[in-house]
Amino acid sequence: MNVLFISSEVAPFSKTGGLGDVAGALPAALASLGHDVKVITPRYRDLRGAERLQPTGQSLLLRFPFGELSGPILAARVSERLEVLFLENAFLFGNRHGLYGDAGGAFADNHRRFAYLSVGALQAAQRLRFIPDIIHANDWQTGLVPVALRRGFQTGPLAHAKSVFTIHNLAYQGQFPKDVMGELALPWDLFTAHDGLEFHDAVNFLKAGLVFSDALTTVSPTYAREIQTPEQGYGLDGLLRHRAHRLHGILNGVDTHEWNPEDDAFLPARYGLKDLAGKAVCKRELLARFGLEDSPAPVFGFVSRLAWQKGMDLLLEALPAALHADLRVVGVGSGEGPLEEGLLALQARYPKQVGVHLGFDPALSHLVEAGADFFLMPSRYEPCGLNQMYSLRYGTVPIVRATGGLVDTVEGGLDGNGILFEAFHKSALLAAIRRALALYADPSRLDEFRRRGMEKDFSWGASGRRYEALFHDLMAE
Ligand code: ADP
Repeated sequence: MNVLFISSEVAPFSKTGGLGDVAGALPAALASLGHDVKVITPRYRDLRGAERLQPTGQSLLLRFPFGELSGPILAARVSERLEVLFLENAFLFGNRHGLYGDAGGAFADNHRRFAYLSVGALQAAQRLRFIPDIIHANDWQTGLVPVALRRGFQTGPLAHAKSVFTIHNLAYQGQFPKDVMGELALPWDLFTAHDGLEFHDAVNFLKAGLVFSDALTTVSPTYAREIQTPEQGYGLDGLLRHRAHRLHGILNGVDTHEWNPEDDAFLPARYGLKDLAGKAVCKRELLARFGLEDSPAPVFGFVSRLAWQKGMDLLLEALPAALHADLRVVGVGSGEGPLEEGLLALQARYPKQVGVHLGFDPALSHLVEAGADFFLMPSRYEPCGLNQMYSLRYGTVPIVRATGGLVDTVEGGLDGNGILFEAFHKSALLAAIRRALALYADPSRLDEFRRRGMEKDFSWGASGRRYEALFHDLMAE
């Protein structure tokens, strides 16, 4: 089958989080199953691997009430069956750093930028004569894709394509004032609360995706259930319950080439199930990199966006008490100012035990995954989460809150592979850290935990086949 996959970020070219990882890996998994896949994404100014881009000779022209937007379509071939297409536009993407915003907040023209991506992706497929069976959109940035499919592209070559929309994070919805309807020439009859784009008198791009797609997926079975509850539904739980028969929870896989302790160029030593010795080398290097003295004490790592979702405030609350024990905490993260300041303050208070690196640093994130003994993920909510799976592959025992995809990937209990805690509360996190210390004090049990984690298969193979099966079912409807 032909699959058109539309995403606002695609690793390794652009990435701010898990969406980028998925958009890099799922299309590759589908291509390796024998499908022809084109991924469409913006040509941001800062793109890794930009030298790989080639002109396609085609370009877009989109007419909006405020004017015309146009730009060339570039391409990078990834494999025989997989190509990434980049939509270039000097005014929307080429003229700034950052994907969605900068220090001043979200870009004011994001509705135009991602309308261009959504509608432009469909036009690009036509221009390149790629007739998809499945059009797979992701998150609010592509919420207008299924709308455009029904209003604008419903008579052309894309008319028979089925649309799939994946929720990577329900909390980010892309809401804009209702004037945007006119600005983007969206038909006003779609501005309804019941079965349209309206959400509390505003336009909600994510809701557009949820209402108009043939099938919905989200990135873990537990999150698929959670988003149907008022607590985690962000106002869209009613709609999701209404569409529950169309909603599937399919766990993300991980890119097992990028995240492989046996062959990881970012590490000073490699290791695997057969021989874990290299992990100790990584631990020494990790401590050194964070300016901490070599020590046999357990190391707790984290790699995270510093956002409310990730529970880093809970970590900051709990760590002073935890640091009475002989342990080390090292982590890399970037995001909200108060959390960054909180982490720096903690480091200043415990300079011999805490190391923090503020920024987005993939190389360092690999070293943390490899060198730490435990990995901290005290998330308030977690649609899937990737870091806990990387941890398991790297023999680093994850300590996670029992929410979303963390529940579906980490096994607690005496013969599990990780440590789960329920309540989003300091005492629950501290109890989990105490359990980790007890495990660390029992090397043979710790070794068993590590090995059980490393043995798990989190590759995209199984998840890719789930998506494939869903696509087949849709095409047969
Ligand atoms: P989310 O998408 O909510 O941020 P995930 O766990 O699904 O969370 O994915 C996060 C991805 O981004 C992982 O690949 C993680 O390693 C990476 N990441 C997050 N913060 C950083 C950082 N500061 N430096 C390097 N990589 C990071």
